[in-house]
Amino acid sequence: MKLSKKVVLIGHFGVGKSSLIRRFVENTFTEDYKVTIGVHVLKKDIKISEKDTDITLVIWDLEGNDDITNTRPSYLIGTHGFIYVFDLTRPTTYENLEFDLNYIKGRYPNLPIKVIGNKKDLVTNEFIKENKDTFKPYVDLYTSAKSGQNVEEIFNLLAKSLL
Ligand code: GDP
Repeated sequence: MKLSKKVVLIGHFGVGKSSLIRRFVENTFTEDYKVTIGVHVLKKDIKISEKDTDITLVIWDLEGNDDITNTRPSYLIGTHGFIYVFDLTRPTTYENLEFDLNYIKGRYPNLPIKVIGNKKDLVTNEFIKENKDTFKPYVDLYTSAKSGQNVEEIFNLLAKSLL
């Protein structure tokens, strides 16, 4: 059985959305920062072996938006699940985490959202421990598009919740 699911990465400018997708789809990383204008769509076929199912993830990389309420609703039509990305090195990208997640949940109450703190390669485990009250209630995984840590895992985790 082959399913196709639309997955949208959402989060502020520069948190690593494009890099995570590139790491997941092409297994590459670049330090260059190219701003996404509008939307960029990539596809990847994955297998959920536990459920013996193949899924095509149709992954939408939206242009960064520091104010979630400005996200264009037209880009979100037909979405099956979200990955909300913040940057562990920049507090401005996670200080409104609760507001942003409630905003998405309020508009798309039945859709799964996974939350990741990205750029894990740039912070220590101590830093994450010290800030556990900020991160732990929300974060599913800490990722690094640079090293690849937990990148495949987060897409697989979301994919499983789409079945
Ligand atoms: P986007 O605007 O959210 O799509 O962010 P980009 O994917 O364009 O990344 C913004 C910048 O952060 C680029 O210079 C990337 O190379 C860098 N970057 C993204 N992810 C990581 C990461 O996990 N670790 C490190 N060290 N840099 C990252």
